[in-house]
Amino acid sequence: MNQTTIKSSCMLNQGIGLHSGQKTALYFHPAPEDHGIVFFRSDKDVHIPATYQYALPSTLCTTIQEQGVKVSTIEHLLSVCNGLGIDNLLIELDAEEVPILDGSGIEFYQVLKKAGIRQLSSPKKVIHINKPISYQKDDITIYATPSNQSDFTFSIDFDHEQIGQQEYSFVLTENNYLEEIVEAKTFGFRKDYDKYKQQGLIKGGDETCAIILNEKGDFDNPEVLTWLNEPNLHKILDQIGDFYLANNLRIKGSIFSHKSGHSSHLAFIHYMMDECADKYSIIEDH
Ligand SMILES: [Zn+2]
Repeated sequence: MNQTTIKSSCMLNQGIGLHSGQKTALYFHPAPEDHGIVFFRSDKDVHIPATYQYALPSTLCTTIQEQGVKVSTIEHLLSVCNGLGIDNLLIELDAEEVPILDGSGIEFYQVLKKAGIRQLSSPKKVIHINKPISYQKDDITIYATPSNQSDFTFSIDFDHEQIGQQEYSFVLTENNYLEEIVEAKTFGFRKDYDKYKQQGLIKGGDETCAIILNEKGDFDNPEVLTWLNEPNLHKILDQIGDFYLANNLRIKGSIFSHKSGHSSHLAFIHYMMDECADKYSIIEDH
């Protein structure tokens, strides 16, 4: 298999940033072999590669930074790039945050898919796990083991009647990604939503871009739900995005995660890439 980019430039109309409330359009441009996924802040004239070396630890969203210039909430867009197998892309915007849209990856997916995927002439590379890599912090566990496919098993445990303990296993292929993951919306709890609003955070958030779970043990806005286990599916969507920070290479291996989130995903990728060089190899994808 060869590396890919999109066939032609395309844009996504103005959307609003979840945390900042700022509006921006997104322009997607084709990029050459080994360019990777790079954001361009046109208002600051700064390019920021979407890789772990540029990522900042954060619990609410995934943020990259270069020369003091940031782009935040990149995880859903990065997830779609991984899901579609896009290796090289230039993403232009003139604000600090990628729009939240409906809280899932579907609009990014539709615009990139419509632009078309083009094969380049260099071979595609993947990270092949050779020996188990495990990461543990408090009650969070992530481990990767060898496999000939890219699969994710994610278990969550939230003290809420509509979630509780759940686990979902997913094999990453373009088709499975479209059918099971890309439309899974982000979620949050009413008590946090109200607290963040009061603190001046989630300025761009409303009840159409997140599933909200209330203190009565119900979904506050069940009309936005596609699946009852959508929070579990969204955690996988986030992880597929965060793990693409590993130099925009898909990981071939079985990933098991328990209660992980953006900051532990980034910590795992740092640990794997920087401290476990004997446990994986970067190989051509066949
Ligand atoms: Zn998310």
